[in-house]
Amino acid sequence: MMLLSRIPNSSLLNYSPSLCSFSKSVANPLLFKKRAGLFPAGRMASNSSAAIRASAQTLTDPDELIGSVETFIFDCDGVIWKGDSLISGVPETLDMLRSKGKRLVFVTNNSTKSRKQYGKKFETLGLKVNEEEIFASSFAAAAYLKSIDFPKDKKVYVIGEEGILKELELAGFQYLGGPEDGEKKIELKPGYYMEHDESVGAVVVGFDRYFNYYKVQYGTLCIRENPGCLFIATNRDAVTHLTDAQEWAGGGSMVGALCGSTQREPLVVGKPSTFMMDYLSDKFGILKSQICMVGDRLDTDILFGQNGGCKTLLVLSGVTSLETLQSPKNSIQPDFYTNKISDMLTLKGMA
Ligand SMILES: [Mg+2]
Repeated sequence: MMLLSRIPNSSLLNYSPSLCSFSKSVANPLLFKKRAGLFPAGRMASNSSAAIRASAQTLTDPDELIGSVETFIFDCDGVIWKGDSLISGVPETLDMLRSKGKRLVFVTNNSTKSRKQYGKKFETLGLKVNEEEIFASSFAAAAYLKSIDFPKDKKVYVIGEEGILKELELAGFQYLGGPEDGEKKIELKPGYYMEHDESVGAVVVGFDRYFNYYKVQYGTLCIRENPGCLFIATNRDAVTHLTDAQEWAGGGSMVGALCGSTQREPLVVGKPSTFMMDYLSDKFGILKSQICMVGDRLDTDILFGQNGGCKTLLVLSGVTSLETLQSPKNSIQPDFYTNKISDMLTLKGMA
């Protein structure tokens, strides 16, 4: 499987369990992160280009965009569906793109589900999507560990939900934590000392509804005390949309807790880090300039596309309003924007 080992410029970390070699490889953390494409979300210094980027154009000629790329990468929530409802016109749009021979890929920062579980969600919504076309950040965490030849005798401590566990299992890694630790409590009796597994070589943190102090302390002990232990975040999203009634604290809140206690920055494998883009471009042998990233968030989707050197299309069917896009405070400008992906059909119809 692990195609990333073949990526010439990804320069991903050669994991070594010893503190010395790991420290050496991250001696210049900024350089390391730049080379590996693993940046903290929302903190990427990528937007020197965005600062001089022209304002986004409204999409008026979808044929031109469609003709100029061979792959469309779609974010899911706010683009394909909203919560549990399919956004109108999506099946027809995907069919039209497939009929033109375009490769379709679906990428999500949500790590609570595995690719298989996402496949079921697509199916429930009546969309025919192959598991191979789905890239969730849960998968990215496992793929990253594989890409660095993370030793099979080391364990992964998981702060997150089932999706991460399933993907680690599929990739053949040993893990502990996850939902099972959601019930655990700490009794602070005098002299209480928490043991931790010294064979944990990576802590993976994703969105976790069962987040608690036990997990923070366990993950912190692994990162601080196990030599060379990696700190991997599936994403650093500030908010997520658990219900359509309000915004909820996202995976970034769990990651932030561990940043606070360890004073370390994580390696981020989800958007806007380019890890998944590198993986996709290697797996399918696609030039990044031949990809169009379609998403509803500026600071993850559009930045992800821009960081990867792709074309970008913002849809206003999710979290970003036209007002936010056009606000002087916003420095992230996609190449194009439109209301929803099915505009690619209606605009074509009008042409
Ligand atoms: Mg979205």
